[in-house]
Amino acid sequence: MSNVFVSKHPLVAHKLTKLRDINTSPKKFRELVRELSALLTYEATDDLATSPLTVTSPMGDTTGEELKEKIGLVPILRAGLGMVEGVWGLMPNAEVWHIGLYRDERTLQPVEYYNKLPIAPTVKVCLVLDPMLATGGSAVATIDILKRWGVDRIKFVGLLGAPEGVANMQEHHPEVPIYLAALDDHLNDIGYIVPGLGDAGDRQFGTG
Ligand code: URA
Repeated sequence: MSNVFVSKHPLVAHKLTKLRDINTSPKKFRELVRELSALLTYEATDDLATSPLTVTSPMGDTTGEELKEKIGLVPILRAGLGMVEGVWGLMPNAEVWHIGLYRDERTLQPVEYYNKLPIAPTVKVCLVLDPMLATGGSAVATIDILKRWGVDRIKFVGLLGAPEGVANMQEHHPEVPIYLAALDDHLNDIGYIVPGLGDAGDRQFGTG
């Protein structure tokens, strides 16, 4: 599958296994979400543009690089919220924009309930954050909104994906790269990823 990048890093595999474990507490789960988000974002941002920057070290001047483009983080509520801190650890100047969607029980389509994006885009690159790429409905709808907003480049960073969610993304947004810690087997009949990790929101927020 082109444009789908599943991490091969041993640290990611180690932390993901602990994340899946039913005995992992919410506190530990949040820590792991944060750490995995940073590791995956490191992999997802290896093509960010830089511009030259000259600084003075104690030994003299040297020209290095600084990030050139403004970056926006777009966590999908609510489970994506726990990924922000990990990504911010790497890019503290990233803007965070919230978009709220819920799934209409009757039509199963995502419905937008919160969107305060200003008229003109303030960032060049957006990282859409959601631990679970399950049906892909929310990710597709969020990316639709960001494209209408006028963002130049969009990447999706998740923890687990299902083949159904990846297929949905590739149908609607084939140019958006997807970064995952693992691609799991399937969705069950109520839309949960198997083997998965259960409800990523409940496990972070202790509401399960
Ligand atoms: N959302 C979750 O939190 N878990 C899943 O398995 C699928 C969607």
